[in-house]
Amino acid sequence: MDNVIPVGTPVWIADWVNTDTWKPCPVCFGKKRVQVILGDDTVISVPCRYCEGNNFEPQGQVKCGHWAVGTVKIAVVTGYQVDTREDGSLYTRYYFNMVGYGEERVGRTKEEALAKAQVQADAANARRDTERAAEKYRDGKTYAWNAGYYREQAEYHRRQAAIYDKKAVVMESRIRKPKND
Ligand SMILES: [Zn+2]
Repeated sequence: MDNVIPVGTPVWIADWVNTDTWKPCPVCFGKKRVQVILGDDTVISVPCRYCEGNNFEPQGQVKCGHWAVGTVKIAVVTGYQVDTREDGSLYTRYYFNMVGYGEERVGRTKEEALAKAQVQADAANARRDTERAAEKYRDGKTYAWNAGYYREQAEYHRRQAAIYDKKAVVMESRIRKPKND
């Protein structure tokens, strides 16, 4: 337990922060629509799915946030608690009055604290990339699928319009002129 920092020692505590920024969508370049060339060389325009937001509307831009080292501060250790992880290794949680920080944020020097925060930020970025990759594979609806869907919808609505046009004609022909006229 030599590596546990004793109570009363001033240490550095670092954090890592999410720095979200936006950049133009790399697929539609902010136009929110992309063109798909079908097998018969017809070009049709469909909404961009790459920059689709929570409301399924293309945003024209994408979030390119990533985790980065934030700030460091000095505090004096007022207590600590050592627990055993599932793999048998030890994990120390340090207390600074009422606030507790895990050992992954606490360094004996500013450099050590910053380096630890960098490791955490890198890990958070890696997790985010993994999630994004998983999302990409989960989303089975490709532009080709999208193109097919919008085409079908257009055809369906054209057919419906034709049916209603015919119905309207039938209705008109059924309207009899008032006898009193
Ligand atoms: Zn887009």
